[in-house]
Amino acid sequence: MIKVIKTGLLYVFAVALAIGIVMVVNFADRYQIKPKEVYKVYLDGKSIGNINDKEELEKYINDEQKELKEKYLVDKVYIPTGVDIQKCTTYEKQVLTAKQVHNLIKEEKPFTVKGYKITIKPSDENEEKITINVLDKEMFDRALRSVVEAFVSSEQVKNYENDTQPEIKDTGSIIEEIYINQDITIKQGYISTDEQIFTDEKLLTKFLLFGDLDEDEYYTVKEGDTIDSIAYDHKLATAEFLVVNPEFTSANNLLSVGQQVKVGLIAPIVDVVVESHTVLDQESQYKTTTEYDPSMNAGTQTVVVEGQNGIDRLTTKLKTVNGETTNVVIVSTEVITPSVDKVVKVGTKVYGGSRAPIMSGSWAWPTIAQYYISSYFGYRWGKVHEALDIAGSGEGSPIFAAGAGTVVTSQNKGSLGNHITIKHDNGYYTLYAHMSSRLVSVGQTVEKGQQIGTMGHTGFATGTHLHFGLYYNGMPYRDGTPMDPMILYR
Ligand SMILES: [Zn+2]
Repeated sequence: MIKVIKTGLLYVFAVALAIGIVMVVNFADRYQIKPKEVYKVYLDGKSIGNINDKEELEKYINDEQKELKEKYLVDKVYIPTGVDIQKCTTYEKQVLTAKQVHNLIKEEKPFTVKGYKITIKPSDENEEKITINVLDKEMFDRALRSVVEAFVSSEQVKNYENDTQPEIKDTGSIIEEIYINQDITIKQGYISTDEQIFTDEKLLTKFLLFGDLDEDEYYTVKEGDTIDSIAYDHKLATAEFLVVNPEFTSANNLLSVGQQVKVGLIAPIVDVVVESHTVLDQESQYKTTTEYDPSMNAGTQTVVVEGQNGIDRLTTKLKTVNGETTNVVIVSTEVITPSVDKVVKVGTKVYGGSRAPIMSGSWAWPTIAQYYISSYFGYRWGKVHEALDIAGSGEGSPIFAAGAGTVVTSQNKGSLGNHITIKHDNGYYTLYAHMSSRLVSVGQTVEKGQQIGTMGHTGFATGTHLHFGLYYNGMPYRDGTPMDPMILYR
């Protein structure tokens, strides 16, 4: 028992002694009385730390400057302003290495180079503005021009600038204006080397056009590929494929097996707006007239005259944004070849009280005759545009039901704005969107060619047009299969 206590006491004593030694060591350390000669480094009057070697810090700063000069190919790199090094005598124990102090300065204030800060204010106020740093203003101008030339050929831009655009003989286009839709401000100043600084024109062009600097997406051409098929397989319209691959001038250009083509989607940071005076030929849709013949059996019909599409020459004012038509005004129309109406004779003779359906003939065009198709059914930068965009007949012009049927939707909602869906007997549904007014309501039956509304730009529409959709066996944007509305008129 006693032995145990003795051992315990001895242990306590040993621990106490150890603590005492530690306290003595600490005591001596805290009350060091020998002052030290150090360099105190200040940044904007605030002490950053002490160093022993002033020259070593200066060497770090010089090396950093040299490295940045080489990186950006500039004569001058500016060290952070407000750095001050003063010799002093201190009792403070802590001395940092020159490298530590150099890093602390860099964290607080970056090295800078003289350059330009370019601010691009988006046209949509909800989007954040984008800043781009460059050292050379002309380089930015050249990159911006390359973006413009993705949508307008360099020859067209040159002719526009030099006022040497060829006159329109029959059909063609004269550019009236090219501009960027965003506010771009350029300010000279000191650019932090911590931020991205564009020194490569190609890289900047890519950033302006694709909205990022991700790796390019390539496709290797295989036997049997065409520009149309590759574009379609990668959810691009053919025109979009040509934007991404400016070395091709048309969809008819030949491809060679093994050739690499770009298939990435662009998302331009700027909107290139082109306003033009354009004269173009467009097929005019023939109409079908039905004659009823009581001497023919019901359910039978014969074509008396075959319909033939004509050609209209439209003089228009077109506005395109990044290659897509957003506004169309038809100034005048000239009939080059008149269309020939199709005449169908339909029998109405009924036997023994059975009723056979009266054929409705073909489909009616949903707008008045002067129109311009600003966007066809197909891919637009990765998404299917499930409709025909028909423009040119103007705000408030009548919209007609393409066929007889029942109105199943009539509302002003979402991106489609004022829209109507008609269910037809043969499994088809037609959709009419962005209208300025609706004249029919749900449950109502409509005749083919009956006016159901007026053209407008409600919902998500950049210009006045009819978004005309065709669906099979189900509702638009739900269970229906989207189909090209042009099939109704072929
Ligand atoms: Zn549309």
